[in-house]
Amino acid sequence: MSIIVFAESTDGNFKKSTLEAVAYAAEVAKNTSTNCVAVSIGNVDDSKASELAKFGADKIVSIKNDKLIGFVAEAYAKALANIASQENATVIVVSNTYSGKAIAPRVAAKLKAGIVSGVISYPDTSNGFKIRKTVFSGKAFADVNITTAAKVLAITPNTFNTIENNKTANIISVDAGLTDSDFITHSVEISRASGKIPLTEAEIVVSGGRGLKGPENWGLIENLAEALGAATACSKPVSDMHWRPHSEHVGQTGITIKPNLYIAVGISGAIQHLAGVSSSKVIVAINKDPEAPFFKAADYGIVGDAFEVMPKIIEAAKKLKAQHA
Ligand SMILES: Cc1cc2nc3c(=O)[nH]c(=O)nc-3n(C[C@H](O)[C@H](O)[C@H](O)COP(=O)(O)OP(=O)(O)OC[C@H]3O[C@@H](n4cnc5c(N)ncnc54)[C@H](O)[C@@H]3O)c2cc1C
Repeated sequence: MSIIVFAESTDGNFKKSTLEAVAYAAEVAKNTSTNCVAVSIGNVDDSKASELAKFGADKIVSIKNDKLIGFVAEAYAKALANIASQENATVIVVSNTYSGKAIAPRVAAKLKAGIVSGVISYPDTSNGFKIRKTVFSGKAFADVNITTAAKVLAITPNTFNTIENNKTANIISVDAGLTDSDFITHSVEISRASGKIPLTEAEIVVSGGRGLKGPENWGLIENLAEALGAATACSKPVSDMHWRPHSEHVGQTGITIKPNLYIAVGISGAIQHLAGVSSSKVIVAINKDPEAPFFKAADYGIVGDAFEVMPKIIEAAKKLKAQHA
């Protein structure tokens, strides 16, 4: 028996969310007296793959195949499900990223496993297998009991801590039993979002709304983001009006983020926007309307005109950066 975790990678590198998933799976393995097996798919170097041990993997299974270098949901899901069967896995952990969301239900269907996505707790196995997840766009929680033998958990990124240790683990290269018919779709071209720091990985996010009046004023967001080493985001209307790319749109219908610091500038704080950002550790809202709903969700608020407030904050952030250079 073992706990399997999907070690998602991009360009041969593991994401922060992958390390969180491995650490989570290792903790579940420890609590259930089993082993944590990390499955790396898509030609990740062995030296890189071995890093997964530091985050708790007892064994690393590496599936190398040139066709798996780009993400192919059907093939990745089949590979992961095959390894889960071989390892007699009781729990399969993925991070609830775009790729994780694509493969978790496929793996669950193949293994006839119960699945919970948006997981925010470790399993409570004192009476069954109870797990907590977010519902209604993060406005409430649900405790779900999974009764199937195999269980798929898609954990929420930025929710669980990683602890590095000096552990090492064997890397076993396997052929996951894939055939040409498993590659019915493939990536033709990958266009990466132009932002310097990926939004989902960012510790700090500076975000702008319709209060900024137009794309010509986005220098205020970008300059503060640069000074703080932050990623940039925006509200839905901003991307709908093509002031910013859709890849920056956060909220119920956009990306969900959980940075340590979220700075919202000229954003009203509608419930659909908050659904994607309210789990940020610290929220700062800058809005000229003291009644803006964002102030109820924010830890710190500045009531003021963004065009007056932002240049002062940017100047202060630049000074701070220079002092610590
Ligand atoms: C089904 C559905 C899904 C949705 N999904 C999303 C989603 O994923 N993400 C999302 O963001 N929205 C989403 N929305 C839209 C959401 O309801 C809001 O309409 C949207 O978030 C408002 O964007 P905003 O705050 O930028 O604009 P506005 O509501 O126009 O707010 C602008 C704010 O800027 C302030 N302001 C104006 N001028 C200044 C100034 N000079 N200085 C400082 N502050 C100023 C105003 O006081 C106001 O609070 C969704 C809506 C629906 C119905």
